[in-house]
Amino acid sequence: MGGLPAWLADANNGTDQSPHMTFSQNIARLTPSATVAVSTLAKKLAAEGRDIINLGAGEPDFDTPGWISEAAIDGIRRGRTRYTPSAGLPELRAAIASYMTAGTDYPAEAARIVVSAGAKQSLFNACFCLFGPGDEVLIGSPYWTSYPEMVTLSRAEPVPVAGSEDRDFLLTPGDLERASTERTRGLIFSTPSNPTGAVYSKAQLGEMAAWARDRGVTMISDEIYQEIYFGDEGAKAPGALDLDPGSVGDLVVTNGMSKAYAMTGWRVGYSYSSPGLAAKMSAFQSHVSLNAATPSQVATFEGLTRQGDAARSKARMLEAFRRRRELVTRLFDELLPGCPYVRPDGAFYLYFRVDGAFDGELTCANDVCARILEETGVAIVPGEAFGDPRYARMSTASSDEEIEEGVRRMARVLGG
Ligand code: PMP
Ligand code: GLU
Repeated sequence: MGGLPAWLADANNGTDQSPHMTFSQNIARLTPSATVAVSTLAKKLAAEGRDIINLGAGEPDFDTPGWISEAAIDGIRRGRTRYTPSAGLPELRAAIASYMTAGTDYPAEAARIVVSAGAKQSLFNACFCLFGPGDEVLIGSPYWTSYPEMVTLSRAEPVPVAGSEDRDFLLTPGDLERASTERTRGLIFSTPSNPTGAVYSKAQLGEMAAWARDRGVTMISDEIYQEIYFGDEGAKAPGALDLDPGSVGDLVVTNGMSKAYAMTGWRVGYSYSSPGLAAKMSAFQSHVSLNAATPSQVATFEGLTRQGDAARSKARMLEAFRRRRELVTRLFDELLPGCPYVRPDGAFYLYFRVDGAFDGELTCANDVCARILEETGVAIVPGEAFGDPRYARMSTASSDEEIEEGVRRMARVLGG
């Protein structure tokens, strides 16, 4: 919502150079992704020889586990290189249904699953198929930067709803009730949250789901960080499918391979919904991209079904994310003791206030993050991208050394 600031605009292919071309109303309010732009800019500056620490990217710094890559290479050699059905390979949809519903009371039906080119596409499919002109969609704020854009591209109206800061911004039915009107059709949030790392308990999810059911609102729960969770050892973060299906109304749960499996570039995401909505999303996708890349689907099948290997690979990465959470919070407490942050229970970000650095020149997070990049070479994402110009987000999906050096450098601008 709102354009990219000047220091980031260049990272998005520069400005418009086509004065004679007119563009559709469909994209009248389109703003490029700031999370992607920060990362692109950081890579460009590093390639130019600048000493850059990129804490912008929401991308694991691990390579995809080798056994998954081998499965894809083997698949390509065996000719798994053709189109698949729009909703995905049948065996993969079945495996995803089992994976998503394990230990829950929801049915493991492949007909409820649509595989897409990233959870980004899963979420867009859902927004486009569910919302349209005149509809309002509540978005838990701070939000992942793409939700409002996806709703706007569907020609509906995004309505950010902030939970209270002392509850780490987690929403309550009271927050939702205050923000809703008779036009409210949807509710979107992530748990664990990007950007805060806050995680809803099962009881809190149940309260929101009951509110949504009673108001006839479709709940879209983005659970892409579900396995990057710092609760009990080996446990996933609570998700909407853990609820009693009888107590939940219309529901879409999205997830994908990018985070827990370090497979960002493979572009595989998926959704669990009613079979009816899944059929619509599949039909929509059949005209837009058809299917997630076939070798990537083959790799995903392997990733979800070789459970012993998967558990070992994921545990190794989770251990690093957990250690870095401890590292970054310790560094903030030591070096920036007056700087409030949300203590993350999941995902791989730290969301912290930068308004302590505001002065005559620095008046918002955009200004502060531009100054931090310019003076210290540390790339972080300004809170405007997530709906709050007092905050910024740093990724902890970087080496311990980069995190430590990054926080030390930021402290020079943010004060201590
Ligand atoms: N949801 C959230 C909250 C994210 O941070 C991301 C990160 N890219 C996505 C969805 C989409 O992930 P992908 O398209 O790589 O599956
Ligand atoms: N989701 C990641 C982030 O928030 C990757 C970039 C994106 O797709 O937004 O940084």
